[in-house]
Amino acid sequence: MPLTRLSSLRHVLTRSWVKSELLMSMSRNLQHEYLQAMGVQRWIAREGVDELVADGMPEQRTDTAEPVAQDWLALETQVAGCQKCALHESRTQTVFGAGNPDADWLIIGEAPGDEEDRQGTPFVGPAGELLAEILLAAGLQRDDVYIANILKCRPPANRDPLPDEVDCCQAYLQQQIILMQPQLILAVGRIAAHNLLQTKEKLGDLRGKVHHYGDTNIPVIVTYHPAYLLRSLLEKRKVWYDLQFAQAVYKQQLSVQD
Ligand code: URA
Repeated sequence: MPLTRLSSLRHVLTRSWVKSELLMSMSRNLQHEYLQAMGVQRWIAREGVDELVADGMPEQRTDTAEPVAQDWLALETQVAGCQKCALHESRTQTVFGAGNPDADWLIIGEAPGDEEDRQGTPFVGPAGELLAEILLAAGLQRDDVYIANILKCRPPANRDPLPDEVDCCQAYLQQQIILMQPQLILAVGRIAAHNLLQTKEKLGDLRGKVHHYGDTNIPVIVTYHPAYLLRSLLEKRKVWYDLQFAQAVYKQQLSVQD
Protein backbone atom coordinates (compact mmCIF):
# COMPACT_ATOMS: atom_id res chain seq x y z
CA MET A 1 0.00 0.00 0.00
CA PRO A 2 1.44 3.47 -0.84
CA LEU A 3 2.71 5.40 2.20
CA THR A 4 0.27 8.30 1.76
CA ARG A 5 -2.66 5.88 1.76
CA LEU A 6 -1.21 4.10 4.77
CA SER A 7 -0.90 7.35 6.66
CA SER A 8 -4.37 8.59 5.79
CA LEU A 9 -5.86 5.20 6.65
CA ARG A 10 -4.09 5.31 9.99
CA HIS A 11 -5.43 8.80 10.60
CA VAL A 12 -9.00 7.73 9.89
CA LEU A 13 -8.63 4.63 12.05
CA THR A 14 -7.10 6.59 14.88
CA ARG A 15 -10.06 8.92 15.00
CA SER A 16 -12.89 6.37 14.95
CA TRP A 17 -13.88 4.21 17.84
CA VAL A 18 -15.52 1.60 15.67
CA LYS A 19 -12.13 0.15 14.90
CA SER A 20 -12.68 -3.25 16.42
CA GLU A 21 -16.21 -3.60 15.03
CA LEU A 22 -14.89 -2.53 11.66
CA LEU A 23 -12.14 -5.10 11.80
CA MET A 24 -14.59 -7.85 12.72
CA SER A 25 -16.71 -7.20 9.64
CA MET A 26 -13.88 -6.91 7.12
CA SER A 27 -12.56 -9.60 4.85
CA ARG A 28 -9.29 -11.22 5.90
CA ASN A 29 -7.26 -9.37 3.24
CA LEU A 30 -8.80 -6.01 3.94
CA GLN A 31 -8.30 -6.57 7.66
CA HIS A 32 -4.66 -7.23 6.98
CA GLU A 33 -4.33 -4.04 4.91
CA TYR A 34 -6.02 -1.92 7.60
CA LEU A 35 -3.99 -3.49 10.38
CA GLN A 36 -0.82 -2.73 8.48
CA ALA A 37 -1.98 0.85 8.17
CA MET A 38 -2.40 0.93 11.94
CA GLY A 39 1.10 -0.38 12.35
CA VAL A 40 -0.18 -3.83 13.32
CA GLN A 41 1.71 -6.33 11.29
CA ARG A 42 0.04 -9.73 11.28
CA TRP A 43 -2.63 -12.06 12.52
CA ILE A 44 -1.57 -15.22 14.29
CA ALA A 45 -4.16 -17.89 14.97
CA ARG A 46 -3.51 -19.52 18.32
CA GLU A 47 -5.87 -22.21 19.55
CA GLY A 48 -8.55 -20.94 17.23
CA VAL A 49 -8.32 -17.38 18.49
CA ASP A 50 -7.02 -14.65 16.20
CA GLU A 51 -4.36 -12.66 17.96
CA LEU A 52 -3.00 -9.31 16.89
CA VAL A 53 0.74 -9.01 17.01
CA ALA A 54 1.97 -5.47 16.81
CA ASP A 55 5.18 -4.64 15.12
CA GLY A 56 7.30 -2.03 16.82
CA MET A 57 5.85 -2.60 20.27
CA PRO A 58 8.36 -3.16 23.07
CA GLU A 59 9.15 -6.81 23.66
CA GLN A 60 7.16 -8.60 26.33
CA ARG A 61 9.52 -9.63 29.09
CA THR A 62 7.44 -12.61 30.14
CA ASP A 63 5.55 -15.18 28.20
CA THR A 64 2.02 -14.37 29.27
CA ALA A 65 0.39 -17.73 28.73
CA GLU A 66 -3.08 -16.24 28.40
CA PRO A 67 -3.70 -14.52 25.05
CA VAL A 68 -4.65 -10.91 25.52
CA ALA A 69 -8.23 -9.94 24.54
CA GLN A 70 -8.64 -8.30 21.17
CA ASP A 71 -11.26 -5.66 21.81
CA TRP A 72 -11.65 -2.98 24.43
CA LEU A 73 -14.54 -4.41 26.41
CA ALA A 74 -13.16 -7.94 26.40
CA LEU A 75 -9.81 -6.54 27.51
CA GLU A 76 -11.43 -4.65 30.38
CA THR A 77 -13.23 -7.83 31.44
CA GLN A 78 -10.02 -9.83 31.20
CA VAL A 79 -8.17 -7.28 33.34
CA ALA A 80 -10.99 -7.28 35.93
CA GLY A 81 -10.48 -11.01 36.43
CA CYS A 82 -6.69 -10.99 36.27
CA GLN A 83 -4.86 -13.07 38.87
CA LYS A 84 -1.44 -13.13 37.22
CA CYS A 85 0.38 -11.55 40.15
CA ALA A 86 -0.09 -11.33 43.91
CA LEU A 87 -1.65 -7.86 43.74
CA HIS A 88 -5.03 -9.41 42.93
CA GLU A 89 -5.17 -10.64 46.53
CA SER A 90 -5.00 -7.17 48.06
CA ARG A 91 -6.89 -5.08 45.51
CA THR A 92 -10.47 -3.90 45.94
CA GLN A 93 -10.83 -3.82 42.17
CA THR A 94 -8.74 -3.35 39.06
CA VAL A 95 -8.29 0.11 37.57
CA PHE A 96 -8.38 -0.32 33.81
CA GLY A 97 -8.35 3.32 32.76
CA ALA A 98 -10.74 6.23 32.23
CA GLY A 99 -11.57 8.93 29.74
CA ASN A 100 -12.07 8.77 26.02
CA PRO A 101 -10.58 5.63 24.42
CA ASP A 102 -10.86 7.40 21.06
CA ALA A 103 -8.67 10.26 22.31
CA ASP A 104 -5.41 11.28 20.69
CA TRP A 105 -3.69 11.70 24.05
CA LEU A 106 -2.91 8.81 26.36
CA ILE A 107 -1.73 9.78 29.84
CA ILE A 108 0.11 7.01 31.68
CA GLY A 109 0.82 7.04 35.39
CA GLU A 110 2.26 4.53 37.77
CA ALA A 111 -0.37 2.52 39.61
CA PRO A 112 -3.65 3.04 41.42
CA GLY A 113 -3.48 4.50 44.91
CA ASP A 114 -5.89 4.05 47.76
CA GLU A 115 -8.71 6.17 46.36
CA GLU A 116 -8.28 4.77 42.84
CA ASP A 117 -8.46 1.23 44.21
CA ARG A 118 -11.70 2.14 46.00
CA GLN A 119 -13.32 3.88 43.03
CA GLY A 120 -11.88 1.79 40.19
CA THR A 121 -10.80 4.95 38.32
CA PRO A 122 -7.27 6.27 37.82
CA PHE A 123 -6.12 9.58 39.26
CA VAL A 124 -9.11 10.46 41.42
CA GLY A 125 -7.18 11.20 44.63
CA PRO A 126 -5.25 14.44 45.36
CA ALA A 127 -2.70 13.66 42.62
CA GLY A 128 -5.60 13.20 40.23
CA GLU A 129 -7.01 16.62 41.04
CA LEU A 130 -3.65 18.16 40.30
CA LEU A 131 -3.37 16.16 37.06
CA ALA A 132 -6.78 17.52 35.98
CA GLU A 133 -5.51 21.05 36.74
CA ILE A 134 -2.35 20.44 34.72
CA LEU A 135 -4.35 19.11 31.78
CA LEU A 136 -6.70 22.10 31.96
CA ALA A 137 -3.73 24.46 31.78
CA ALA A 138 -2.92 22.77 28.48
CA GLY A 139 -6.53 23.19 27.32
CA LEU A 140 -7.49 19.57 27.94
CA GLN A 141 -10.39 18.20 29.97
CA ARG A 142 -10.12 14.74 31.50
CA ASP A 143 -12.57 13.48 28.87
CA ASP A 144 -10.38 14.78 26.05
CA VAL A 145 -7.74 12.20 26.97
CA TYR A 146 -7.48 8.62 28.13
CA ILE A 147 -5.76 7.92 31.44
CA ALA A 148 -4.21 4.60 32.40
CA ASN A 149 -1.41 3.25 34.55
CA ILE A 150 1.53 0.91 34.23
CA LEU A 151 -0.18 -1.33 36.83
CA LYS A 152 -3.90 -2.07 36.97
CA CYS A 153 -3.85 -2.98 40.66
CA ARG A 154 -2.77 -1.05 43.71
CA PRO A 155 0.56 -2.06 45.27
CA PRO A 156 0.19 -2.32 49.06
CA ALA A 157 1.06 0.91 50.91
CA ASN A 158 1.63 2.56 47.50
CA ARG A 159 5.09 1.06 47.17
CA ASP A 160 6.83 1.09 43.77
CA PRO A 161 5.65 -1.62 41.38
CA LEU A 162 7.84 -4.74 41.41
CA PRO A 163 9.38 -5.87 38.10
CA ASP A 164 7.28 -9.06 37.96
CA GLU A 165 4.09 -7.05 38.55
CA VAL A 166 5.01 -4.75 35.68
CA ASP A 167 5.76 -7.76 33.48
CA CYS A 168 2.37 -9.31 34.25
CA CYS A 169 0.52 -6.08 33.42
CA GLN A 170 2.57 -5.05 30.41
CA ALA A 171 0.51 -6.92 27.83
CA TYR A 172 -2.69 -5.17 28.94
CA LEU A 173 -1.30 -1.67 28.58
CA GLN A 174 0.32 -2.61 25.30
CA GLN A 175 -3.00 -3.87 23.99
CA GLN A 176 -4.70 -0.65 25.09
CA ILE A 177 -2.09 1.25 23.09
CA ILE A 178 -2.60 -0.99 20.04
CA LEU A 179 -6.37 -0.50 20.18
CA MET A 180 -6.19 3.24 20.88
CA GLN A 181 -3.39 4.13 18.51
CA PRO A 182 -2.83 7.41 20.38
CA GLN A 183 -1.14 10.33 18.70
CA LEU A 184 0.83 11.10 21.85
CA ILE A 185 1.66 9.43 25.14
CA LEU A 186 2.35 11.57 28.19
CA ALA A 187 4.34 9.58 30.75
CA VAL A 188 3.82 11.07 34.18
CA GLY A 189 6.52 10.19 36.64
CA ARG A 190 9.62 8.05 36.83
CA ILE A 191 7.90 4.65 36.94
CA ALA A 192 5.81 5.35 33.84
CA ALA A 193 8.74 6.85 31.93
CA HIS A 194 11.18 4.07 32.85
CA ASN A 195 8.81 1.29 31.92
CA LEU A 196 7.46 2.83 28.73
CA LEU A 197 10.90 3.76 27.46
CA GLN A 198 12.81 0.82 28.93
CA THR A 199 15.38 3.10 30.45
CA LYS A 200 16.77 3.99 33.87
CA GLU A 201 17.72 7.57 32.93
CA LYS A 202 16.89 10.31 35.40
CA LEU A 203 13.47 11.84 34.88
CA GLY A 204 14.99 15.30 34.59
CA ASP A 205 17.10 14.07 31.66
CA LEU A 206 14.11 12.50 29.92
CA ARG A 207 12.05 15.72 29.98
CA GLY A 208 11.99 18.07 27.01
CA LYS A 209 12.76 15.35 24.46
CA VAL A 210 10.63 13.43 22.00
CA HIS A 211 10.90 9.71 22.76
CA HIS A 212 8.97 6.97 21.03
CA TYR A 213 7.07 3.97 22.31
CA GLY A 214 9.10 0.93 21.27
CA ASP A 215 9.80 1.18 17.55
CA THR A 216 6.46 2.81 16.81
CA ASN A 217 6.07 6.40 15.72
CA ILE A 218 3.98 7.24 18.79
CA PRO A 219 5.78 10.11 20.57
CA VAL A 220 6.26 9.82 24.33
CA ILE A 221 6.71 13.00 26.35
CA VAL A 222 7.90 12.76 29.94
CA THR A 223 6.90 14.95 32.84
CA TYR A 224 6.83 14.87 36.64
CA HIS A 225 4.23 12.88 38.55
CA PRO A 226 1.55 15.09 40.15
CA ALA A 227 2.15 13.35 43.51
CA TYR A 228 5.73 14.66 43.34
CA LEU A 229 4.42 18.13 42.49
CA LEU A 230 2.21 18.05 45.57
CA ARG A 231 5.44 17.82 47.57
CA SER A 232 7.45 20.26 45.39
CA LEU A 233 5.07 22.93 44.19
CA LEU A 234 7.95 24.94 42.73
CA GLU A 235 8.32 22.30 40.00
CA LYS A 236 4.78 23.01 38.75
CA ARG A 237 6.08 25.51 36.26
CA LYS A 238 8.29 22.85 34.66
CA VAL A 239 5.24 20.67 34.11
CA TRP A 240 3.49 23.56 32.43
CA TYR A 241 6.47 23.80 30.04
CA ASP A 242 6.30 20.04 29.46
CA LEU A 243 2.65 20.29 28.53
CA GLN A 244 3.34 23.17 26.11
CA PHE A 245 6.05 21.01 24.59
CA ALA A 246 3.67 18.05 24.36
CA GLN A 247 1.09 20.24 22.59
CA ALA A 248 3.69 21.34 20.05
CA VAL A 249 4.76 17.73 19.43
CA TYR A 250 1.12 16.70 19.08
CA LYS A 251 0.44 19.43 16.50
CA GLN A 252 3.53 18.40 14.59
CA GLN A 253 2.40 14.77 14.73
CA LEU A 254 -0.97 15.69 13.22
CA SER A 255 0.53 17.91 10.58
CA VAL A 256 2.76 15.17 9.16
CA GLN A 257 -0.35 13.05 8.65
CA ASP A 258 -2.29 15.67 6.64
N1 URA B 1 -0.94 7.82 40.83
C1 URA B 1 -0.85 7.15 39.66
O1 URA B 1 0.22 7.04 39.09
N2 URA B 1 -1.95 6.66 39.14
C2 URA B 1 -3.13 6.78 39.69
O2 URA B 1 -4.10 6.30 39.15
C3 URA B 1 -3.21 7.50 40.90
C4 URA B 1 -2.11 8.01 41.46
